Amino acid sequence: MIIVMQLNATDAQINGVVSEIRKAGLKEHISRGSELVIIGAIGDENKLEPAHLEILPGVERATRVTKQYKIVARDSHPAGSIVKVRGIPIGGNQIQIIAGPCSVETQEQMNLSADAVAAAGCRMMRGGAFKPRTSPYAFQGLGVEGLEYFQQAAKRHNLPIVTELMDVRMLDTFMEYDVDVIQIGARNMQNFDLLKEVGRVNKPVILKRGLSATIAEWLMAAEYIAAGGNHNIIFCERGIRTFETTYRNVLDVTAIPVLKRETHLPVIVDPSHSGGKAWMVPALSQAAIAAGADGLLVEMHPNPCDAWCDADQALTPEELKKLTVTLGAIAGAIGRSI
Ligand code: PEP
Ligand code: MN
Repeated sequence: MIIVMQLNATDAQINGVVSEIRKAGLKEHISRGSELVIIGAIGDENKLEPAHLEILPGVERATRVTKQYKIVARDSHPAGSIVKVRGIPIGGNQIQIIAGPCSVETQEQMNLSADAVAAAGCRMMRGGAFKPRTSPYAFQGLGVEGLEYFQQAAKRHNLPIVTELMDVRMLDTFMEYDVDVIQIGARNMQNFDLLKEVGRVNKPVILKRGLSATIAEWLMAAEYIAAGGNHNIIFCERGIRTFETTYRNVLDVTAIPVLKRETHLPVIVDPSHSGGKAWMVPALSQAAIAAGADGLLVEMHPNPCDAWCDADQALTPEELKKLTVTLGAIAGAIGRSI
């Protein structure tokens, strides 16, 4: 930890900081410049709290030098890790496109969706049975009945399913229905109790970025899951809220290389909730793959005009198929495959 003293800090104040550092079992290294004194606290800095030092007289600021996240940090696994979903790798050379409707509506809609997902060559399917809606009067998802329809449809093509868990009380049900990948939505990225619970199960988790979460907050949220023993975590950038109102969210492409550097875990992108319009999805998907994303989470509906949720952003089955072909060319150009 680095402690920067105020310009006029006295020797007594410097000694006060030094004694706190020693009390925590660390050693001090004092660097006296012509104007400022900077104190390095050497040792296990987790034993010191910056806020605890910042209230001492004469201290300007205290900053950690090591990262708070450990298990998810790339340092813990420099080669990068692959999360396997029923044998399908996420994070390796092959890029996975997870497609499907925003929400589960009917058995027929799910069957048609599964057919389209398989026809486009995608190996995994998405669909929400529990929907986080802004309005309490909007369709909230079919609930458990939706999980039933989803599994029935996905089984026809042996597609692993990805679905959102909003409430910790439904975790046992998710396990009973053998959900393959648990999605933690943007609105729950910092629902720490939910994160702790999914950290205890042996199921891959897609952790979406919070609406205005920083990269550090997102990594710490993943660390909550990892700390419970579940290291099968996939980050999903889904756009962040900014001053711009022309599109639903701003896809933070920069987050892709930054996360790939900070963590060994796979990083995927949701181009649908980023732009919020189907016509934006191809461009955002191409940018994501070119920037190094390990996969996509894309909304597709057999008949977008009839979608009960997020109709504007759903691709048609034909558009999904076309997209996978284009992305194959981009993947090839960067030495990967679809
Ligand atoms: C979703 O993927 O269906 C969803 C609700 O996304 P987000 O949590 O990113 O808003
Ligand atoms: Mn949606």
